[in-house]
Amino acid sequence: MAENFPIPTYIVVIFIISLLISTIGNSKPWSASLSHNNKLLALDVAGKLLVDPDSLKSVSSDFGHIVKEHPKAVLCPSTTQDIVSLIKVAYNDSIPFSIAARGHGHSTRGQAMAHDGVVVDMSSLKNHRNGSGVTVSGNNFSGFYADVGGEQLWIDVLKATLEYGLAPLSFTDYLYLTVGGTLSNAGISGQTFRYGPQIANVYEMDVVTGKGELVTCSAYKSSDLFYAVLGGFGQFGIITRARIALEPAPKRVKWVRMLYSNFSTFTKDQEYLISFNGRRQNRALNYLEGSLLMDQGSPNNWRSSFFPSSDHSRIISQVTKHGIIYCLEVAKYYDDHTKNTVDKELQQLIKGLSFLPGLMFEKNVSYVEFLNRVRSGELKLQSQGLWDVPHPWLNLFVPKSRIVDFNNGVFKEIVLKRNITTGPVLVYPMNRNKWDDRMSAVIPEEDVFYAVGFLHSSGFGNWGDFEEQNKEILKCCDNAGIKIKQYLPHHATKEGWINHFGSKWKTFAERKAQFDPKMILAPGQRIFNNI
Ligand code: FAD
Repeated sequence: MAENFPIPTYIVVIFIISLLISTIGNSKPWSASLSHNNKLLALDVAGKLLVDPDSLKSVSSDFGHIVKEHPKAVLCPSTTQDIVSLIKVAYNDSIPFSIAARGHGHSTRGQAMAHDGVVVDMSSLKNHRNGSGVTVSGNNFSGFYADVGGEQLWIDVLKATLEYGLAPLSFTDYLYLTVGGTLSNAGISGQTFRYGPQIANVYEMDVVTGKGELVTCSAYKSSDLFYAVLGGFGQFGIITRARIALEPAPKRVKWVRMLYSNFSTFTKDQEYLISFNGRRQNRALNYLEGSLLMDQGSPNNWRSSFFPSSDHSRIISQVTKHGIIYCLEVAKYYDDHTKNTVDKELQQLIKGLSFLPGLMFEKNVSYVEFLNRVRSGELKLQSQGLWDVPHPWLNLFVPKSRIVDFNNGVFKEIVLKRNITTGPVLVYPMNRNKWDDRMSAVIPEEDVFYAVGFLHSSGFGNWGDFEEQNKEILKCCDNAGIKIKQYLPHHATKEGWINHFGSKWKTFAERKAQFDPKMILAPGQRIFNNI
């Protein structure tokens, strides 16, 4: 990275404006003019806009390692005002340039990239927060919340709130993702059936719109912007602060996995368990997911090592016998007040379930160990050089009424037969009534639907094989009339996006015209740009 010098913002902005003035009339886009060496150098010296090759390269790929897009510059903001200034310059230019916020770059399809534009490296805000990236407020009567910078990682939000004995209610499986990044999608995990996705646990946000206006929005104030941004793929503004709901944090977790050979029984049990979902319902679980175990070596994977090695051969023999077995995973939190009742409550829930006899496994771990369960797998893969590899992921929402057809048509006929799937395959249900339809996020029309995630890791030379499989899966659903919705979607055509949003498309497009009329923001999603 180039060295930063503390040049006042207004000098940077004046410089950019003079740069723009110098390009007006020569019919070249601003980005094209940036390629002139002197100007690159000048911007580099300005400090907050980096144009050196290493900086550009660092934001030209992502966790997916499939898409590569080079920006012309990277903004390292130290204040929200820097973002306002940058977007204002783009908005007021006769030939606007594109801008993408980059949270932690954990997208898989270039969603946080800006071809020939400017990438805003949100992590740079962290260094300038003076410890105020997460501020906890509230009281027992009205409830607690945290004001959190959009650039904050969920692991840091968790750590900061735990100091007050509090925590957010809804997480993702992996905590090294930013608040702005997951709120731009939905933020789902095993807690979603009970607490809703992360976007359903936000009270208020500060957002810099595509016009460069800084707006505080909530369900009661500038609500159109609030609902647009939640699940809005970064299309309407850059989130610089979010107010997240908190509750008293539990201390420990009973964590259980049960194995099934019959898919219908597996999903019937999952649906039964998520039917207890009241926020204050003691009986309800706090977390429920599920996954496939197939013939791919160890039954453990990077999402967590769980099964004792002494049981591996027993599990593998079931996989060999059935081809696929299904793993139901649940968790119940507890603290000092509930430590004497948690086992009884869990037993009551589990006693009617139909998993394979003897194939239930249990762990008792700290709350942080449970929430941060993916991290140890990540560090292991990093040490083996297997983390920074292509990830041709496919994530779907499948309506409950067709999940058995999905198992037959996709898991058995495609995934099992092709036998190339190497990463985790998740399958777990959630309740529609925990989602707010006014938000941009799109889900199936049924009361219960499943999240299915094919979280493939591949080599640099063979990710195309997984893409082929992904295409076949989508085609199979289309042919069978299974009305899936993609999560973390990518569509190659405008029709694809219109179909994705369905009845929400009109509102989505109107909100784009309202908040980012020059289509500056998040071009890497390819919804309005480059199609
Ligand atoms: P980026 O990839 O940097 O950005 C994603 C999009 O959001 C881009 O369009 C970007 O421009 C925009 N954006 C970023 N910051 C802001 C902001 N402040 N304001 C407005 N727009 C912004 N998702 C789940 O829901 N549940 C999971 O359990 C889960 N597990 C994952 C595990 C791993 C290992 C990985 C790599 C991803 C996982 N994801 C999961 C997906 C993840 O939530 C999304 O890819 C998310 O967008 C990544 O966050 P990020 O901070 O890296 O965002």
